[in-house]
Amino acid sequence: MIPAALRTRYRKLLEEINRHRHLYYVQDTPEIEDSAYDELEKELFALEEKYPGLIAPDSPSRRVGGLPLPQFKKVRHAVPQWSFNDAFSADEMREFDVRVKRFLKSEFGDATPTYTCELKIDGLKIVLTYEKGLLKTAATRGDGTMGEDVTHNVRTIPTVPLRLSREVDVIVEGEVWMSEQTLEAVNRARSEAGEPLFANPRNAAAGSIRQLDPKIAASRGLDTFMYDVAQTSERLPATQLEELVYMRELGFKVNPHVRLAKTIEEASLYWEEWKKKNKTQGYWLDGVVVKVNERKFQETLGYTGKAPRFAVAFKFPAEQVTTVVEDIVLQVGRTGVLTPVAHLRPVVVAGSTVSRATLHNEDEIKRLDVRVGDTVILQKAGDVIPDIVQVLPDLRSGKEKSFKWPTRVAECGGDGTIERVPGEAAWRCVARDSFAVKRRVLRHFTSKAALNIEGLGPSRVDALMEKGLVAAFDDFFTLEEGDLLTLEGFAEVSAKKLIASIKKVAKGVPLSRLITGLSIPQVGEETAILLAENFRTIDDITEASAERLIEINGIGEVVAEGIVGWFKNRENKKLVERLKKYIRIISEKSSGKGRGTLAGKTFVLTGTLSRLSRDEAKEKIRAQGGTVSSSVSKNTDYVVAGEEAGSKLAKAEELGVRVITEEEFLKMLES
Ligand code: NAD
Repeated sequence: MIPAALRTRYRKLLEEINRHRHLYYVQDTPEIEDSAYDELEKELFALEEKYPGLIAPDSPSRRVGGLPLPQFKKVRHAVPQWSFNDAFSADEMREFDVRVKRFLKSEFGDATPTYTCELKIDGLKIVLTYEKGLLKTAATRGDGTMGEDVTHNVRTIPTVPLRLSREVDVIVEGEVWMSEQTLEAVNRARSEAGEPLFANPRNAAAGSIRQLDPKIAASRGLDTFMYDVAQTSERLPATQLEELVYMRELGFKVNPHVRLAKTIEEASLYWEEWKKKNKTQGYWLDGVVVKVNERKFQETLGYTGKAPRFAVAFKFPAEQVTTVVEDIVLQVGRTGVLTPVAHLRPVVVAGSTVSRATLHNEDEIKRLDVRVGDTVILQKAGDVIPDIVQVLPDLRSGKEKSFKWPTRVAECGGDGTIERVPGEAAWRCVARDSFAVKRRVLRHFTSKAALNIEGLGPSRVDALMEKGLVAAFDDFFTLEEGDLLTLEGFAEVSAKKLIASIKKVAKGVPLSRLITGLSIPQVGEETAILLAENFRTIDDITEASAERLIEINGIGEVVAEGIVGWFKNRENKKLVERLKKYIRIISEKSSGKGRGTLAGKTFVLTGTLSRLSRDEAKEKIRAQGGTVSSSVSKNTDYVVAGEEAGSKLAKAEELGVRVITEEEFLKMLES
């Protein structure tokens, strides 16, 4: 069964993707960046993989490119045209390598293919057919089967040989491109003539080739790189690398930056290098192409629906992607100013996973008309929190929720009143200490006494708050590596470490520590432990009445009212529900009361102990099922009196509670 919501999502995605494909392939006027388009495809393909029943015949996983324009003569390709599967990380490249080797196994045993690494030039693909060394036709890729005849335009490109060095019949494939410098000049001229500008060199190249008048293409300073021999009347070279040499010999322009990688790791290094060098070479690259070098392996590997199994497009990190807004949260800043922050479905952008974007202020939310549930285009440049640049309204299902700017904000403390900052688009809390209060609470939550998250000391908590990354307890658990990279002093390694340490804690938090961390008024470590020992789950505590709480030895009326009040609060209830989603809470009830030699006994410690620290003593009592209380009452079983015991000792004597020495206490533990 495919959930209805996913069916709708699939259909909406497909419609949107096909609209963008038409704009890109047929009209050469894309509305969104390639990387944002890629992310939509990724989501669609993931749905198809999970639910093959969804796959539509017009899915981009089933076809190549777009239909040829009607004004061109059509060319049926002698050799079908393909596109590539994408990879975005070294891990995905390793998976590609594993797939390749697994596929080759039955025919070649443990084959060790090598890989040719080439630059992936972002231009327009052309297919050139030569007969007896003379250029016959030049065609666009079209839909893979039928292309457009653009011979008249391609002939005008100086680097396309009209006659080859030998009289060979050959079909070659390559890319027509425009340099950024040329694009600038072309756009300048278009601007003067009042014509619309080209968005990028790829569209400019495509727009120049797909013209009926060859004078236009001739004036556009186009260039080429050829990269594949599809067919030849001579002997086909045995490797991709030799093919490149062969094409150069015939007279084609071939990109010089090719490299042979002996392993997939070497291919990833090539990608790393070009990721850094990109933009220095004058033509646009959107990644590198990694191809199995040996033809015999290529032939065995063959093709899937629309792409070769022997090659992969290893794309550079994208600075624009799409994702879904899961929530919009108001963040209280140091000066009480409220900043709306979007919580996102985690997505890789600029090389790392992020889960937050800033929405700046109320006006920005209105300008974007961004709603909870919307699919948006996210942009990240450098180490700053990403921005939402655009909403894709066509992907709305109708379930999205507009964000209404509230009149009161609980996070502000007090009665939650807010006010407009004079002369600005911003709002702030009226209670000026709200940030300080919140900061104390969040610092306490991660501290040793509570969740004890390693690496999340006070200064880091402050930094997370100031960047708007964390506003509530549960926010710690949705952070991603890329979110941390926006903070000063964080690099990839430290970000990874902190995320790992948060994840580790989330795997099991003892109930008492969670309660300690919630900063419930009057509830310190001791009371938290009492609660955890008396209730199995946090839900049981949520539902407990004051009467039930008072029954617990060590909890008085004031504390009981405080607990009930906290758990009754709607915001706190929601918070607990969210926390339950992200952390596994470990019940301590079974390991506490009822078991161990000190089960049911209540201890009060006073004075200085000589052989144990106070914390060690407490731990030992609890480990054996006993309870520790901070004040003496008639319910206390033992007061352990160390040196210089004070008022508690006096109180014990007054109430007739048994007082024991440290020695006696240690013996009791041993027995
Ligand atoms: P692809 O990414 O599958 O790659 C195939 C193309 O790579 C070939 O056609 C060829 O032109 C090119 N190429 C460059 N250098 C090469 C080399 N050394 N060896 C082999 N091929 C090389 O291309 P595709 O199927 O056209 O895929 C889609 C591309 O179009 C993506 O980049 C996608 O983002 C973009 N697109 C964008 C939009 C949009 O709205 N912005 C819409 C549709 C598609």
